[in-house]
Amino acid sequence: MSIISVLNPKGGSGKTTISTNLARSLHELGHSVLIVDSDPQGSARDWHAASEDNPIELVALDRPNNVKTLASMAANYDHVVIDGAAKLEDMIAACIKVSDFVLIPVQPSPYDIWAASDLVEFIKARQEVTDGSPRAGFVVSRIVEGTRLGSDVRTALDDYALPVCETTITQRQVYPQTASEGLTVFDADNAKARAETTALSNEILAMLA
Ligand code: ADP
Ligand code: MG
Repeated sequence: MSIISVLNPKGGSGKTTISTNLARSLHELGHSVLIVDSDPQGSARDWHAASEDNPIELVALDRPNNVKTLASMAANYDHVVIDGAAKLEDMIAACIKVSDFVLIPVQPSPYDIWAASDLVEFIKARQEVTDGSPRAGFVVSRIVEGTRLGSDVRTALDDYALPVCETTITQRQVYPQTASEGLTVFDADNAKARAETTALSNEILAMLA
């Protein structure tokens, strides 16, 4: 069992999009998955409610204290994917504490990467008192197809000394389109989106192993 949190206090970085698609991708790979919506905005809840036969179970988490109950809930699943809250320090801190892995989606802009600095510091402080848990890494999300990461973005990411997933998540209409129906890219005819999401899952599974 593993708990994967998708965290970044910055809204719009792609947390919910990645959480839902990652969860579905892990399901497609044969793992049992629970999504936990820890954001009071409830985007993942809305996504889940938009489809009647979503193969992924979802629970909402309203208080940081309730994060503690996750460990027992998680025991019934191969993976729990927590969709992170924006600007809710207590909730983010509680999620970091129970996580095996923190995935930090960032848009390919130095401003967005710099905005993750408090989160990275918090994770590193936690790693120091726990012998390295949770592990953490960035995924660059919403990158425009055909563009390469600018050197400013690479430098900003390097400064954090955390792994950066080789897979990037591209800006594609299929992500919001499928989300609006409570679906994921696995329900759409878009092989590239499925491939990048599956590649991201496999990278995370390798880092968890
Ligand atoms: P967060 O949960 O971090 O606030 P979201 O996943 O809700 O971020 O994404 C913010 C907005 O950007 C949403 O409208 C979402 O549909 C859109 N979006 C996110 N990722 C992508 C992507 N890879 N391609 C296209 N649109 C995206
Ligand atoms: Mg969100």
